[in-house]
Order: sequence, then C-alpha cells, then structure tokens
Amino acid sequence: MLDRYDVLVIGGGIAGLTAAKTVATAGKTVAVIEEKRLGGSYLFDYDVPSEVGLNAVKSAAALESIQKFGAKKRTLSLSLAGLARERVEVAKNVDDYWGEEAMRRAKVAVIGAKARFVDGEVEITKTGKMRHVAASRYIVATGGKLNTSGIKIDASAKIWAPSELWAATRLPKTLMIIGAGMSGVEMAYYAAKMGSRVVLIERESRLLPHEDEEVGRFYGLHFAKMGRVNAVLGAEVAEISGRELLLKRGNSKQVLPITGTAQVVLATGQQPNIDGLGLETMGVRVGQHGVVVDQSLMTANRRIYAVGNCVDNVSADLAMLMGKTAALSIVSRHAPIMSSAASPKVLNLVPAYARIGATEDELRRKKIEYKKSVVLLSEIPRGRIDSAEGFVCVLADTKSRVIGAKIIAPEAESMILALAAAVKYQMTADELLRVPVPLDSWNEAVRLALAKI
Ligand SMILES: Cc1cc2nc3c(=O)[nH]c(=O)nc-3n(C[C@H](O)[C@H](O)[C@H](O)COP(=O)(O)OP(=O)(O)OC[C@H]3O[C@@H](n4cnc5c(N)ncnc54)[C@H](O)[C@@H]3O)c2cc1C
Repeated sequence: MLDRYDVLVIGGGIAGLTAAKTVATAGKTVAVIEEKRLGGSYLFDYDVPSEVGLNAVKSAAALESIQKFGAKKRTLSLSLAGLARERVEVAKNVDDYWGEEAMRRAKVAVIGAKARFVDGEVEITKTGKMRHVAASRYIVATGGKLNTSGIKIDASAKIWAPSELWAATRLPKTLMIIGAGMSGVEMAYYAAKMGSRVVLIERESRLLPHEDEEVGRFYGLHFAKMGRVNAVLGAEVAEISGRELLLKRGNSKQVLPITGTAQVVLATGQQPNIDGLGLETMGVRVGQHGVVVDQSLMTANRRIYAVGNCVDNVSADLAMLMGKTAALSIVSRHAPIMSSAASPKVLNLVPAYARIGATEDELRRKKIEYKKSVVLLSEIPRGRIDSAEGFVCVLADTKSRVIGAKIIAPEAESMILALAAAVKYQMTADELLRVPVPLDSWNEAVRLALAKI
C-alpha cells in the first residue's frame, strides 16, 4: 500500500527538520526522508565542528592574554584528539534536539532512504529496494554541495572540503585554502592558531570580498600581525593537480607548487544539491543560485516548497527560518513572508565581525543615499581598558532609520542584536538610543555611533 502523508520533507538537515517539526506541531502527518544522518551539514560538517574548533583556539587566546595581569607565560597546546572528543560530545547534545528520538517525540516519521520525484510521487530507495510515498505537499531541503565550478580538477589532485579540515585529527604543515570568504578566513585563523602555515588564495583584491573594503583590510592586517597566514590576492585558481595550482592573474598565469606536506582546501562556497532529484519532471524551476521560490518559499509547482541551501547559500538561522516559513505557508491560512532582514552575518574570530543589513558596496551599487557614522573602540572606556582594536559603523537612510551596521569587536555577535532589531523594525537611531546600555560595556560604542548619525 502507498504511504501517504500531509507533508513529505526531502532532506533531514536543519532546514528540513525545522519544517517537519513545525508541520507536526500543527497536527498534520509528516515524514522526513534522509539518506545519511539527521542533522545534516549543520551538525556533522560545518557549524558544530567549526564552532568547537574556533571556540578552542579563542579560549586558548583568552588564556594567553592573562599574561598582562602578571600570569606566568605558558605555551598552551591544544590537542586535536581532544577537539575530536568534544565534537562528538557536542553533536550528542545537539542530537537530543535534532536526532531520531527527538523527531519521534515531535511526531515526525523518519524514513532513512534516498528520494527522488517520479511520476508525481516520491520514489525512495534503501539498500537497492524501492517503494513509493506520496503527500499533498512536499518540502525539498536537500542542502548544498561543494562548488567546484570554474576550476579544472585533475584526478591526481587531493582536495579537502571544509568539513575535512574541521574533522581533521592531524593538520598538515601547510594548508592552501582557496577562497577567502567567511568560511576560508575562519579556517585560515583556526589552522594558523593550531600551528599550520596557511596560504589563503582569493580571486578578488581583498579578503572577505562580500563585505565592505575596510573589513577585508582589517583582517588582512590582523593576519599579517598574527603571522603564519600568507594571503595571495587577485589570483583565480583555474586548475588543481596533485603537484601544483595554476593561478590566473588577469592575462598572466602563475604556478604555485603543492609541496609534499601541503593540503589544498576548497572554500569556494556551495551549489544546490539537487542533481537526480527529478525536479524538472515536476515543473520546478532552478536558477543561478538554486531552486527558484517565491516569498512563501513555494516553487513553480504549487505543491512543492524548497528551503535551506538548495535554494541559496544561507546561514543556519536562515535555513531554519526558511523551514518554518515554508511549513507555516502550508499549514496556516495566513502564510508568513520570508524575510532575511534580521539575520546577521558573523565571522567567529578574535576579534569577531558581525554585520546586519546592507553593505555600503550594495547601497552604492543600488544608488541609495545613506548616512554613516563610525566609532573606533579606542574612543570608549572599555576599548581603552582592553586595548581593543575594531570599530562600530552604523548606516542610516536620510530619515535616520537604521538600515545596516558592521562591527569588529570582541563581542560583535552580541552587540549586533539591538541593531538587527532596529533594521527589522525600521527604527530610527534616536529610537534605539532610548534603550539604556550598561556603563563601560562594548555597547557604548554602538550608542556613540547612533548618537552621531
Ligand atoms: C563551510 C561552511 C561553513 C558554514 N558555517 C556556518 C556557521 O558558522 N554559521 C551558520 O549559521 N551557518 C554556517 N553554514 C551554513 C549552514 O551549514 C547551512 O545553512 C545549513 O547547514 C543548511 O542546512 P540545510 O538543511 O539546507 O542543508 P543540509 O544540512 O546540507 O541538509 C540536507 C540534507 O539532505 C539530505 N539529502 C540530500 N539529498 C537527498 C535525497 N535525494 N534523499 C534524501 N536525503 C537527501 C542530505 O544527506 C543532508 O542531510 C556554513 C556552511 C558551509 C558550507
């Protein structure tokens, strides 16, 4: 007999699981089809493993900084085996929320199989056996895969995905990281702090090219002071073999040898993981970034929704929000509209970087008039106490409504939250200034920047 559900979710990453839980809460029958492990790349490849690695090197840096209080100088060495144990522990804790048992409690059925659309239904395959399942609505949440487009990769090339670096129990002497976006920069920081030498190769002329110029420049200088990271900018990797990288710089070419102790890591972003899913047979359209959806995350086929990294390269919080939005669009009469306005971008280093809303590059490109105020951390008491480097920059429209902000500071990821609320609810700088902040906190820099708008 054909199994039927109100909703079938294909892909049990953070986007699909959030969608399934939301559907079940509304009292509808729902199943998640997952071919590997529930939790997807959030739990096993990127977010949780990178958080463990970065927290370890950040904690070590904090411990070393107590020397200024007279503590005796000690060299702290982190153990990769210890990090691996911690990753397993953290994944176990998170599994209590996202694992099979948690899904059973939430009344979400779990089908361990690979799925694809065939004849208007879903065909599932497990260990060679096939059967069909069907639903009134489908949510596609199959995530992303490593983007290798534009790079010719020889069969002799040995390449790591970012997940392999975060899972490594031995780090190579030299890492050649291709791509200096958020992920590449976080990996470079981690590997350098763990003792590897890093060659960080970026096609654009600065680190973090999707952020404004001063941000890329700041971390370029930061890496130069820190040592161990050599940034190769304005160089596009065209070919990778077992022995060398072929770089293009405008019309000229350059060869970078890969020594015996070096490992190449691709941090070139993600592309949608939708090959062989049969979406074309269902009339679902696919664009440059992934599955094409409207504001309620419905595809060109009214019975199929798509969420998470198969739609676009999104952060985990946005993937979850997409899952929830798609599910509510299906189960409630007043379908919500997907908005990414309050989702900050965060670079998890010391000092951290956080941004909300538009970049200045984007505002200039769209010819939107804006006001800007910048406060250096050295202008506030807390910054002087801690000798901290960094800044708070607030962007506002001509009516002084906050439309964006970028912060480089020790607690940037927390400081950005009030500004995120201001962007989402279109508050003016004056309105946000009415919220008090503790004296001598980093947030004084935010206040000062708002006052200067
Ligand atoms: C290098 C890197 C670093 C990142 N770091 C951060 C970070 O620090 N903070 C942050 O917020 N976000 C980060 N992200 C983004 C975050 O990982 C993603 O937003 C999130 O994991 C996307 O979840 P998803 O459910 O869309 O996809 P996935 O987690 O990829 O889940 C998709 C699931 O679908 C399954 N599947 C695929 N095809 C089928 C099929 N045909 N049948 C059955 N199952 C199938 C897969 O096995 C997988 O489990 C990072 C991403 C990358 C690439």
